Amino acid sequence: MQQRGKKMRFPTVASKRKPKTPIIVESPTKTRTLKRFLGDEYDVLATKGHVRDLPEKDFAVDLERGFRPTYEVIPARRRDLAVLAKHVAGADRVYLACDPDREGEAIAWHVAEVLGIEPDRRARIEFNEITERAVRAALAAPRPIDLNLVNAQQARRVLDRIVGYQLSPLLQQRLGGWGAGSRSLSAGRVQSAALRIVVERERERVAFVPQEYWRIRAVLRPVDREENFQAEVVRRDGEKLQLRNQTEADEALAELRQASYVVADVTRREVSERPQPPFRTSTLQRAASARLGFPAAKTMAVAQQLYEGVDLPEGTVGLITYMRTDSTRISAEARAAATKFIEANYGQEYVGPGARGKAAKGSQDAHEAIRPTDVSRTPDALGPYLTPDQQKLYRLIWQRFVASQMAPAVYDQTTVDISAGRYGLRTTARILRFPGWRAVYGAGEADDEAAEPGAGENGGAGNGSEPAEGIDGPAAPGEQKGKRNGEAVADRLPQLSPGEPLVLVDLLASQHFTQPPPRFTQGTLVAELERYGIGRPSTYAPILETLRQRRYVRSVGRYLVPTSLGIAVYDFLMEHFPHVMDLQFTARMEEQLDAVERGESDWVKVLEEFYEQFARWLQEAQTAEPKVIEGQTCPECGGRLVERFSRFGRFAACEKYPACKYTRDVGWAIAERCPECGQVLQVVLTRQGRLVVKCTAPECGYLRDSETHGEEAGGEESVQGGVQAAPKCEECGADLV
Ligand SMILES: [Zn+2]
Ligand SMILES: [Zn+2]
Ligand SMILES: [Zn+2]
Repeated sequence: MQQRGKKMRFPTVASKRKPKTPIIVESPTKTRTLKRFLGDEYDVLATKGHVRDLPEKDFAVDLERGFRPTYEVIPARRRDLAVLAKHVAGADRVYLACDPDREGEAIAWHVAEVLGIEPDRRARIEFNEITERAVRAALAAPRPIDLNLVNAQQARRVLDRIVGYQLSPLLQQRLGGWGAGSRSLSAGRVQSAALRIVVERERERVAFVPQEYWRIRAVLRPVDREENFQAEVVRRDGEKLQLRNQTEADEALAELRQASYVVADVTRREVSERPQPPFRTSTLQRAASARLGFPAAKTMAVAQQLYEGVDLPEGTVGLITYMRTDSTRISAEARAAATKFIEANYGQEYVGPGARGKAAKGSQDAHEAIRPTDVSRTPDALGPYLTPDQQKLYRLIWQRFVASQMAPAVYDQTTVDISAGRYGLRTTARILRFPGWRAVYGAGEADDEAAEPGAGENGGAGNGSEPAEGIDGPAAPGEQKGKRNGEAVADRLPQLSPGEPLVLVDLLASQHFTQPPPRFTQGTLVAELERYGIGRPSTYAPILETLRQRRYVRSVGRYLVPTSLGIAVYDFLMEHFPHVMDLQFTARMEEQLDAVERGESDWVKVLEEFYEQFARWLQEAQTAEPKVIEGQTCPECGGRLVERFSRFGRFAACEKYPACKYTRDVGWAIAERCPECGQVLQVVLTRQGRLVVKCTAPECGYLRDSETHGEEAGGEESVQGGVQAAPKCEECGADLV
């Protein structure tokens, strides 16, 4: 059998020669990359992906017998497996070189099981970059398949299968009946928690009441020089200045016009800004979302191409380390190569200590950060051989890695305090004295995580490098909501000394409104999931993809907005499966899978514990009577009102349906009161799939749709002869009339 197989592929090989040892990998590209430096020593073969899985049409989990899954060979893989079988038959040893994580371990195990490679012939090897050095080292250190990793993967697969198969029919039955459409509904475990985060953010945005505030800046100059500069009015009588409306702003302006301006204090200090650590999966997805506009799935697909190998003149070469990792560690060899590269191209003084992030929640930290396999392959040099997307992503990874090994950027920062009667003004200028890592990352490129709107809210979570105070730094948690515009930082200020009088040239007053917390992008949602400990490097992109495919979430530009179907599913699950929607519960399940991976928990026990609870919730949801809405009756027939669900969300219906067809909205009550009648306001989902604020009093028609313009304002008016700018919409930039 084996000889025949050899002859078919290599007819010139003499049949008496010792057969080459097979190495099995997942992808044909990886095969080419390995063959380049392993030459003819080994027989490198590809599974072309997963070979075995739970069947699509059956439940295939035996709940009575230890959750035993019944796997099925994936039909499309049958022919490839037959070829593989011929190659491995009779080999004393078969190297299983699948990717270095849970998923890869599971593929290695499935292949070995399907092909009948006995444990004493299985040699699992692991490398997190496809380079000759790493692969040779792995070949020298084979190990048995780690069944803990395999079982963690099986547990996740079975867990998701149970939830999907048992919850979806109920969802279909309860939500499918009320309303049009025949698309089948389904629910999943981890993505339900992600859906919750997106829906609740949208609800928070709709309920947000913008607060008006005004800012005043003074244009000043020294008495003897035409060197105008601006300073912001920040204090009055030693306290933070707060102007809530035009009247208050006008009062302040009147006083400021009469005041005399004197430099009170000038402070100069050195500010340094450390580089970010190299990428791990979540930070790569976030930066690629912010800087390249890549969805997470695209980032992972392109990263996989770079990892598995790209055709260069010297052959197929793996350009980056493995892209599914929660580590920011780098190998000593990579550090040494980076140091050498930085010294040669920038100089000794540009070499830094190496930025290292804290490990992410639940991180095993067994692997390495995502970095180039050879730092001397610069993005420009590789340009001709990469697709435009590969080039963009490689540049991002290369720059971030090189920057992480460079010295901090150093700025000279000057802060000038100015007194004007009982008012205090302040202005800050910052001059770059030594670029450090900015030399490779670019001075114009802001910190990629903070550059994305809303990223500041949890920027730096699980990430030990806090950039220097005041420079593109992540905002403190919670600061984002209703955050006021930051103080502008100038490049340059005139030379000023304390006691020096200043001339007032102009006063600029501008009206502003606090902004609601921003919608999530794919990048910021991944960061939020990671912050909660939900999802792992291999699952972030699939979670987002599932939400999109099920049409629970749609994209508006780069922002994620829940659909009415998504909100309806959220409502239903929150009512009947609060634990499935509970972020802490979901995070604990992930931790338990990690414990299985470490060999600290038994996977069947983890499943038993989960299923015991889940079966009870399912039973309760199936038998639950519709909730009666207390204190209200049907205005048409006097019957009781009960809570119902449909594809359009939660609503109240008369219990006498279908005899009485009365229905009305049921929303989420918010703290704000109706400006027209003083009753409780609620956020409700309209038939158009929009969340709006509506009064709960049936006779009051108050409704506020935050997506319609008119409540927004902005712009700036000069009160001393300056040009008046037209106010612009803060969302689309159009002029507001
Ligand atoms: Zn009725
Ligand atoms: Zn009202
Ligand atoms: Zn607009």
